[in-house]
Amino acid sequence: MGKLEMEIKKLMFQLEIDGISVRFIWVRSHRGIEGNDIADFNAKIAALEVPLPEATPWFPPTDLKKKIAAELTKQWRVEHENYHAGQRYVRMFPPPRLSAWFSNMPLRPKMFFKIISRLRTGHCCTKKYLLRIGKTDSELCELCSVTEDEQHIFMECPRFNITREKLFEEVSKSVAQPFNLELILQLQDVTIYDAIVKFCEDSDVTL
Ligand SMILES: [Zn+2]
Repeated sequence: MGKLEMEIKKLMFQLEIDGISVRFIWVRSHRGIEGNDIADFNAKIAALEVPLPEATPWFPPTDLKKKIAAELTKQWRVEHENYHAGQRYVRMFPPPRLSAWFSNMPLRPKMFFKIISRLRTGHCCTKKYLLRIGKTDSELCELCSVTEDEQHIFMECPRFNITREKLFEEVSKSVAQPFNLELILQLQDVTIYDAIVKFCEDSDVTL
């Protein structure tokens, strides 16, 4: 809101308190309407008497706020795209949104957001990740002797063949096979996310 607008609102508020109601109407200028002519005359006098500052024009803070927000968003996106870590996330979810991924999701238990967030960022308690942070001495699946990552758990390991059937059935309603974990996470579809969480519960997988 501009300075003049504020002044007008304050005056209107005062008039309302005094029991005078004000209505704004459009009037044609320079047609001998007394109030209008007086306002026009006073405006011309004021313009002559008070020179406008040249170097520092006045503008409302809201304009500046918008400009700063747009500039910060631009800078943040550039930084996000070029950040050395998290390239998988940038690849999967470009460009970054201003709101959190779950802001459009319906109400779900805390576990839902925990599992999906970990899968989206790739920070899951798989053996591959646990080896990286020094919490285990092998990254291999105990059954298959291949690297146990999210893709292996959700898409390949025969330990979860039965529960995977249900997951694939649900995902196939939205995506044609073959699909991989990254692709189905990218869809940001709550039905698919529900099926992923159900898979974890039914398979007794803790991420
Ligand atoms: Zn396996």
